[in-house]
Amino acid sequence: MNIKNKAATFFAILILLLIAFIFYWGTTKPIDVIIQAGHEGRTTGNTGAESKLYREEKWNIIVANEVAKLLQSWQIDVKRVPADIKFMRAKIAISIHFDGARIPCASGASIGYPSKNSHDFAQRWKSLYKAYFPYKWHKDNFTPNLKNYYAYQWIKADKFLLLELGEITCDTQTKWLKPRLKKIAHLIAYSIATELGEKVKKPSL
Ligand SMILES: [Zn+2]
Repeated sequence: MNIKNKAATFFAILILLLIAFIFYWGTTKPIDVIIQAGHEGRTTGNTGAESKLYREEKWNIIVANEVAKLLQSWQIDVKRVPADIKFMRAKIAISIHFDGARIPCASGASIGYPSKNSHDFAQRWKSLYKAYFPYKWHKDNFTPNLKNYYAYQWIKADKFLLLELGEITCDTQTKWLKPRLKKIAHLIAYSIATELGEKVKKPSL
């Protein structure tokens, strides 16, 4: 190898390292808020709850998009992600879900979270949504899926909440929920902004 080739190889490696570094830095840079629509993009495995009329994934996307849109409109740094994710860091991560039950209307709303850090935020969300959602509530982390949600490992967040916003297999609840999806999204966005110390107006419900 002559000197010219050696120099070219050296610079090529340098550029590759630089690209790898920029990529790494970009993927691990902490974001203020990550909003995940549960099951979004899944075709196999856990594709989410469904009833004759509705699919959870669709509703998750509607709510997650609206939450992200509102946060952006308040100049909050937000990233919208589907079910499959890579390693990320954030101050707050929220995963949006609706529950399904084998016996219709046996379920309702609940919250999952991975650590004590998230506990107080979870209680603040519960008191907001409890004043609005008029159906059943489970205790926090009532299933292993809520307690050990896979995304807790992928998104390292100071506070991570998995929100089950109601039961999609219960007619009474879907009748109430469907016209209120954007209102609920507004309540979630308000709760996140407040948690970040931003002053935004509480939505009228
Ligand atoms: Zn789900």
